[in-house]
Amino acid sequence: MSELEKDCLFCKIIRGEIPSYTVFENDDVKAFLDISQVTKGHTLLIPKKHLENIFDYSQEDAAKYLQYIPTVAKAIRESDPAIKGMNLEVNNGEIAGQAVMHSHIHLIPRYSEDDDMV
Ligand code: ADP
Repeated sequence: MSELEKDCLFCKIIRGEIPSYTVFENDDVKAFLDISQVTKGHTLLIPKKHLENIFDYSQEDAAKYLQYIPTVAKAIRESDPAIKGMNLEVNNGEIAGQAVMHSHIHLIPRYSEDDDMV
């Protein structure tokens, strides 16, 4: 394991060293609830391979890991009939607001009562 992977917050979550609430998991990806919920069910989807952000992805990485976006989005939506839509958000690089340097996709459910939220 590299030093980067040893210290990475999301690699620690994958290894079970830091607890998380898993929404979906297989050999390639893990989806878990964000610790700071923008809306109820706010989930992060991450590759188990340590990729820093979208600029690190090869074509093969993209096909392998990003294919699970619809799977996770649908699982979240099906968990609650009050979910009316969903924002997908990806911050790439510090300047773009990326705080954790392990690639992740935010899936943020939208409910009719959160119409006033950004
Ligand atoms: P931002 O904080 O600007 O959204 P990122 O796009 O890098 O930056 O998102 C990192 C996300 O990781 C944040 O939404 C944060 O709440 C979440 N997070 C940090 N620590 C944990 C943790 N231990 N478990 C779950 N989510 C976490």
